[in-house]
Amino acid sequence: MLSKDVLIEIGFTFEVDSGDPEQWTWRCGDTTSTVEFLKEDFAVLDAAHHAAAHLELHCCANCGKVHTEAMLKDIVDLALRVDAGDTVPSGECQSCGAFCHPMVRTGIKDSPWDQFQQVVIASYNNGDHLAQDPADVRNVGDTLLTFLLLELSEKEDCDSVSTAIDRLNSAISQLEKVRDAFQEKAAG
Ligand SMILES: [Zn+2]
Repeated sequence: MLSKDVLIEIGFTFEVDSGDPEQWTWRCGDTTSTVEFLKEDFAVLDAAHHAAAHLELHCCANCGKVHTEAMLKDIVDLALRVDAGDTVPSGECQSCGAFCHPMVRTGIKDSPWDQFQQVVIASYNNGDHLAQDPADVRNVGDTLLTFLLLELSEKEDCDSVSTAIDRLNSAISQLEKVRDAFQEKAAG
């Protein structure tokens, strides 16, 4: 997922309406978040989703800087710098001049998983390897991953980033209770 710093570099802004509770929104050009978020982190997560699904992004092979189409510089001496058969780079890095290539899009359209499941897979240890087929989610070989993919899915009415976070918090508190029970047992 793109960090807040990267999102700001590619043109996102984050604003807070400091009431009680706080309300965070993001903006990118003419696009704004469709809801207000209670925490900045939630707004950043939603903005990162939007960027991954809707923007053509390019990454510098040398320094890792993320560019939008508009930020890329034209390539100087392309013919001299690219060998036959190499992938043609999309442009030059604004910062260091090395080649940039398109980033793999993680948008909703390109994945059989919905937007919430995609976050699960991207952040879970080895998730992209384990989770191959949405139709076979119960047999991914890792029951905790299965739980997350089922619980944090649009099918199960997970309809927003904050719903996902609520569900995770309740699972975490359940896990903590079970761990505490074992710790008490260990303490004898
Ligand atoms: Zn660079």
